[in-house]
Amino acid sequence: MGRRVIITGVPGVGKTTVVTGALKVLEQEGIVYRTLNFGTYMFDVALKEGIVRDRDEMRKLDKEIQKRLQKLAAQAMAREEGNIIIDTHASIKTPSGYLAGLPEWVLRELMPDTIVLVETNEDQILLRRLSDETRSRDLEGSYGIAEHQQFNRAIAAAYSMYAGCAVKYVTNADHLLEKAVEDLAAVLR
Ligand code: AMP
Ligand code: MG
Repeated sequence: MGRRVIITGVPGVGKTTVVTGALKVLEQEGIVYRTLNFGTYMFDVALKEGIVRDRDEMRKLDKEIQKRLQKLAAQAMAREEGNIIIDTHASIKTPSGYLAGLPEWVLRELMPDTIVLVETNEDQILLRRLSDETRSRDLEGSYGIAEHQQFNRAIAAAYSMYAGCAVKYVTNADHLLEKAVEDLAAVLR
């Protein structure tokens, strides 16, 4: 049985960058993981159904539609074998409030060994979002970002109760990417 590690973090914290770095380190040690992107699984279905044109529109969809897409994605990912990293969100900030990224019916499918929260200072995240032109990031102040990260810690504790998984905080601070990469690699080893 392979290992399943779920990586989360607010948009713009640099999750994907940290994961890419950690996988490179582990590859040199002969440890192999495949990365599955939760949003991409959802987007493939949403695109086929013609309900969105871009992945950043999904969090604005009706809550029930988001949950349907989420369930389909979890079921598809549960079929994957080997060591797997799932790149996703502990919670999604939607117009109707925070939506759990890993509600009971998703966790039951995925049953991770560890949930990683990639975090950093809210001002750093704000600046990273402003400089990322590849995505339609929500315009949000540092107070809102701090609140979102706080909510993610709280809901991760609930996930650990249900799944019996470990919860690991990894800090991805400015100019310290290598530290974040090493911390994540240590979780994956
Ligand atoms: P990302 O590329 O990781 O920012 O994900 C793109 C979008 O996919 C997010 O803005 C959400 O709308 C959706 N998404 C990703 N993971 C989840 C999840 N676990 N539950 C619900 N929606 C998700
Ligand atoms: Mg990403």
